[in-house]
Amino acid sequence: MASVFPFTFIKYKFIYNSIFKVQGGRMVENVIIIGSGPAGYAAAIYAARNDLDPMLIRGLQAGGQLMLTSLVENYPGFDSILGPDLMEKMSQHSKKFLPPSKIIDRDVTSVDLNVYPYKIYVEDTVYETYSLIIASGASAKWLGLENEKRLIGKGVSGCAVCDAFFFKNKSVVVVGGGDSAMEDASYLSKFASDVTIIHRRDKFRASSIMQDRVFSNPKIKIIWDTVVEDVLGKDHVEGVKLKNVKTGEERVLPTQGVFIAIGHSPNTDIFKGQLQIDDLGYIVTHDNVKTSKDGVFAAGDVQDRRYKQAVVAAGWGAMSAIEATKFLEEKKLIK
Ligand code: NAP
Repeated sequence: MASVFPFTFIKYKFIYNSIFKVQGGRMVENVIIIGSGPAGYAAAIYAARNDLDPMLIRGLQAGGQLMLTSLVENYPGFDSILGPDLMEKMSQHSKKFLPPSKIIDRDVTSVDLNVYPYKIYVEDTVYETYSLIIASGASAKWLGLENEKRLIGKGVSGCAVCDAFFFKNKSVVVVGGGDSAMEDASYLSKFASDVTIIHRRDKFRASSIMQDRVFSNPKIKIIWDTVVEDVLGKDHVEGVKLKNVKTGEERVLPTQGVFIAIGHSPNTDIFKGQLQIDDLGYIVTHDNVKTSKDGVFAAGDVQDRRYKQAVVAAGWGAMSAIEATKFLEEKKLIK
């Protein structure tokens, strides 16, 4: 008898929930996870293994920022792996624990965190949930120049890995001084005839190993203390107008490609006014991953002002699933 009971109970629960859904009734999720970078996948795997039966809303373009990078050499367990391959592995891993019905490949359009259970809108579909893990990551920043915007896709790019191929034997510039700029310049040097990094200061903030790769690459030149004031060209990029911030000297540098690598902004627009968000747009957290709303957790680049590393994001994701489990247990919403 003892072995039959759990089976019958689980079957009953499954049928009950299915009929409930078909009839358009109210089905409240234990936890919804928004985002599919390392934080989102780690949260989904941990939550599923804690029997939370999570729903993972991955977005239209699953995989986050690592989909736009080339080699990842600092994720433990992988001495060298392409960013998209690492994300595919995470996706496959999550599918071991989540059924297809719990993976939604659409964008969250809005949320209502002023009601409980919380409401998550995916266009005209609304999901309700007792807890929420926000792992919506960050998006590449732009310089904000009018001609930069006009010439996106016509020589201006925010993704070296996506577009480098189109710049075979052409001159390109990379704007920025962090790891992204170093990585983009190194990658572009395999295609372009020459690469010039334009940086607004006289030293890079990138890690020394990435800087060393750039310094030792004969195809990469560096212009220090300089900002891009304009992107020139009618139908496609023909040059950039530069200004030395120390001397004030202005000049035009002919180029056919402009790659912007000046960092990222957290994707928090849909949470503004409902959660505490700091002056740079990051979700404010306390006790690691707790936000200003009970049962709402934030993990990864959406709340991490400091580290911004894939492996750290995965750690935040795991923490958020553990905290969500504790929250649901304390509220007696799960056993
Ligand atoms: P970042 O570290 O914030 O660097 C942004 C760079 O762009 C800085 O050098 C900054 O100059 C410059 N910048 C910012 N706004 C600018 C503007 N308006 N005009 C001109 N320059 C501007 O961003 P990131 O390089 O994207 O890296 C983000 C995080 O991801 C970092 O933690 C990084 O370590 C990580 N990451 C890791 C890897 C890897 O390990 N393989 C690869 C890529 C990124 P200042 O230095 O003067 O502020």
